Amino acid sequence: MSSATLFKDDAAIASGEHFFEQVNRMFDKAARFTDHPQGLLNQIKICNSVYHMEFPVKRDDGSIEVVQAFRAEHSQHKSPTKGGIRYAINVSEDEVMALAALMTYKCAVVDVPFGGAKGGIKINRNEWSEAELERITRRYTFELTRKNFIGPGVDVPAPDYGTGPQEMAWILDTYNQLTSYPLDALACVTGKPVGQGGVRGRTEATGLGTFFGVREACNNAADMQKLGLETGIEGKTVVVQGLGNVGYHAAKYFEEGGAVLVGVSEIEGAIYDPNGLTLQKVLDHRKETGSILDYPGAQNLATGTDVLELPCDILIPAALEGVITRENAPRVQAKIVGEAANGPVTADADEILNERGVLVIPDVYLNAGGVTVSYFEWLRNLSHVRHGRMSKRFEAKSAERILSAVTKMTDTEMEQDEFSRLVADVAVGASEQDLVNSGLEDTMSYAYNEIREIARTHDTDMRTAAFVDAINKIAVSYLQMGIFP
Ligand code: NAD
Repeated sequence: MSSATLFKDDAAIASGEHFFEQVNRMFDKAARFTDHPQGLLNQIKICNSVYHMEFPVKRDDGSIEVVQAFRAEHSQHKSPTKGGIRYAINVSEDEVMALAALMTYKCAVVDVPFGGAKGGIKINRNEWSEAELERITRRYTFELTRKNFIGPGVDVPAPDYGTGPQEMAWILDTYNQLTSYPLDALACVTGKPVGQGGVRGRTEATGLGTFFGVREACNNAADMQKLGLETGIEGKTVVVQGLGNVGYHAAKYFEEGGAVLVGVSEIEGAIYDPNGLTLQKVLDHRKETGSILDYPGAQNLATGTDVLELPCDILIPAALEGVITRENAPRVQAKIVGEAANGPVTADADEILNERGVLVIPDVYLNAGGVTVSYFEWLRNLSHVRHGRMSKRFEAKSAERILSAVTKMTDTEMEQDEFSRLVADVAVGASEQDLVNSGLEDTMSYAYNEIREIARTHDTDMRTAAFVDAINKIAVSYLQMGIFP
């Protein structure tokens, strides 16, 4: 079937319809570069199970409302399955299946040993009070527990659009009350507050991973030359759509890395200043006025989506899926599009951007920072020990011994005070946050170069290369399990 008959209308895709088909279209394009039997490819592609539930919620005024929710487990080629939970009004069965599939491929790309899953509750969280959100979250967890759709070795949710550490803490507490196996219960959900078994660095992980991935691309001199850009992040202009968890942290790390933030958008609109915006000042302005609009020195844009067409080196869509479509892709001026959100570029738009020579760094790789650090959190919960706790003091002592040996070998005269200061500087040992961030950096760097090499070998784009990488790794798992005798 041609793409034209598959997708009649990009607008329908933008609303979430056919999202799973789009992911499968990308899968099919990549599968042509592999030689796996069609039956195996079909098994990798399908979504293993979806739980569609509806349950009543008591509102604060005593009335009852019925809420729709979903959990999709795309692939059990590795256990547990893993994926975020989003609270958004456009959540649908199709959307959770698509996002669960992306999770499967994402985990494979960054060598995180999970299958993919995704959950969603169809609500606009701004229309519910904190107490109501707690009741919804706890009821959802109860439903998942009863149907065995949650558990440290079964399926492990995490934050996504519209959810954060608070919802994860409620999920943990509810699961804890229901499970007969409390020992490992902490590992039933990730993205928890640090005091509730969360790992330091999880909140910022997806934004930081996005920065590491784009930085890796910008350090490739040949690719930058093709785009007519200098190597490195320093001085590059960046536009970010959405200043939530992922967008805010990505923007922060780009700014700290020396890039210039020229445009941002939020739900109320978009602002642009070619001379550069200061992220913290934009947020302060929003806190004071309730909006990013009318930020001093910046231009307000007519619509929130105009931000996607601004002149810039790097465009980071970090809010919703389906925002770059067949309609606006020809007007995107960025040289690099870094998909921090899931599915922000539709399949049609992807082809247009590729033809126009834009480097699209795909979601299936670029926003894998969240699940990578979730994996570190899950390991921490199962091992019941903070990362670095066993080795921190030992590393500190080793550093001290090395420093003493070097000063002795090089005959360096050093005052005791100066030596002590140096020891204090060098020999602190790695903190949990240091370990998490360095594990994340290494993961993003290694995976980028792995898919870059596949792209080079097959002379294809980075998204197709990432899917080829994922398909090959998942195929090996299935074949090794011997499920196809
Ligand atoms: P979030 O809820 O923290 O932030 C989303 C932000 O986008 C909000 O501030 C919202 O107001 C804003 N927004 C909504 N509509 C907008 C519009 N039309 N224009 C501009 N801004 C708009 O969600 P998040 O966790 O940052 O997730 C964002 C995206 O990243 C989603 O696609 C999600 O699936 C993906 N993602 C998140 C994680 C994670 O760890 N949180 C991991 C991987 C992928």
